[in-house]
Amino acid sequence: MRVELPLPAHLPLEGRFEIDDTCIDCKLCNDLAPENFEADLDNDVHYVCKQPETPDELERVLDAFESCPTESIRYLAGPTEE
Ligand code: SF4
Repeated sequence: MRVELPLPAHLPLEGRFEIDDTCIDCKLCNDLAPENFEADLDNDVHYVCKQPETPDELERVLDAFESCPTESIRYLAGPTEE
């Protein structure tokens, strides 16, 4: 069970989506949100290539979040520390 909730309902994001190391490279997230998830071919995993910037992208990313078979997509709420 994830502890990074609540998920964003609106843009702009106040946190960020990430994929953790439990990803099994099933490619489902890329199928659902190709603008936001890409394959890391060197490491046989996927990663978040772009945070959602439009309501449509956010909807697709949330669909991927809910659909990931290993719950590898996480949302880290709160301001990003750079
Ligand atoms: S849906 Fe989940 S397991 Fe599948 S590639 Fe994306 S992050 Fe990895």
